[in-house]
Amino acid sequence: MDLNSKVIVFSPTSLLKKQIQTLVGFHSFVLLNFWYTIGKTFLPTLTWRRSEDTKVVYLTFDDGPHPDITRWVIQELDKVGAKASFFVVGENAQTYPDVLSELEKNGHSIGNHTYHHLKGWGISTAAYIQDIEQCNDVIHEKRLFRPPFGRINFGAIKPLSKEFEIVMWDVLTKDYLKGLNTKKAQKRIQRATKTGSIIVFHDSIKANLNLKVLLPDYLQFLAKEGYEMRAL
Ligand SMILES: [Zn+2]
Repeated sequence: MDLNSKVIVFSPTSLLKKQIQTLVGFHSFVLLNFWYTIGKTFLPTLTWRRSEDTKVVYLTFDDGPHPDITRWVIQELDKVGAKASFFVVGENAQTYPDVLSELEKNGHSIGNHTYHHLKGWGISTAAYIQDIEQCNDVIHEKRLFRPPFGRINFGAIKPLSKEFEIVMWDVLTKDYLKGLNTKKAQKRIQRATKTGSIIVFHDSIKANLNLKVLLPDYLQFLAKEGYEMRAL
């Protein structure tokens, strides 16, 4: 059978387009919660959200440090008296040791995000752990770990858990997405924020434009809602 003869040209009307958009929006909302539920269910030893009695949230920034972007983040956090956690890439920390010291001096915590920003899938557990150790040698901090891309090497969970709190997240800003609708993203992350939430931003060149739009308003929102912003 000639499959081409079965192709129907589909041209949605604006109403239909709107319905599709609503459906896609709904699905990403469900997916986000699904991700949290799946993670929490199958990988309960990882931290997805902290349980807290008081109104506290944990802002986290991945992939730095970067001399301009990380310093800008420090200034923004200072404006609202926020402390945060920075999951740094070892090779960036080695290139910008001054920025790393500034983070520590300002009361923010430093976490390990591997030396080469490694995906944990498709490589051996030994190679994965070795890369994490290499990052440790630069940051001299063995307390917090976050797997790049959220893809942890499953064999590494048990040995890493002995030394680290493995920190995932429940609120993903998606600031790394090119062409992100920042207005919608702002609404989405504000709606998803709860007591104990762990929120992911990136102090990286890739996320820079979105970060600079999203972070100041989000910090204002958190302050207005009475959330304390603490480092992990
Ligand atoms: Zn990363």
